[in-house]
Amino acid sequence: MHLMFLGAPGAGKGTQAKILEQKLDALQVSTGDILRKSIEAKSELGLKAKGYMDAGHLVPDDLMIELIGEKFAEPEFPKNWIMDGFPRTVAQAEAFDSLLTRLNEKLDYVVEVDVDRDLLVKRITGRRVCKNCQAPYHVTFNPSKADGICDYCGSTDIYQRADDKEDIVINRLKVYDEQTAPLINYYKAKNLLFRMDGNAPVEAVTNLILDIVSKS
Ligand code: AMP
Repeated sequence: MHLMFLGAPGAGKGTQAKILEQKLDALQVSTGDILRKSIEAKSELGLKAKGYMDAGHLVPDDLMIELIGEKFAEPEFPKNWIMDGFPRTVAQAEAFDSLLTRLNEKLDYVVEVDVDRDLLVKRITGRRVCKNCQAPYHVTFNPSKADGICDYCGSTDIYQRADDKEDIVINRLKVYDEQTAPLINYYKAKNLLFRMDGNAPVEAVTNLILDIVSKS
């Protein structure tokens, strides 16, 4: 199972990937999470990426392509994966195609999660994340079961990302329109694209995706 999510920030890619990781026995590969961990660890990649991320810009393609190449080369990298946040540019998508060809693997589904703009802003600015396991929550739409405690790992460190504040969010949406949205046609042309109405509640969207994956 090789699945990729496409969609603007706040579309619910991370939320769905986290749920499907368990249901499909596949690893969620979130480049945003990998970068945030690198920043916390003060690694060379983290130091290079931080300024771009804080401003709501994309991290340069060469760094991202190298990061994904290294991830796929890890000895414990699993057979099944879900891409969440990569690729985000046509150059990244082309490099990813080459990587998969080299590894003799192929992409099975690209799920585009489409959400109305005003709802995206509400979702991102209300988003909270578990610092320990990166599980995503929303203060009103998807709170943790017990207040302030992560459903997945029990951590009490649930926080708001710096780039989820409203002024940065506007820039991230612009970057999506200009640099990532062209990937919709890129994958449509390869007959891999499935479009989802992501305005629906979390569980309904999960069921739609599971439907596609089980039918094809
Ligand atoms: P996310 O957690 O997916 O919303 O990503 C947070 C931030 O990480 C983005 O706004 C970018 O600055 C950076 N980032 C994550 N994935 C990529 C990527 N594939 N290409 C460039 N920048 C990325």
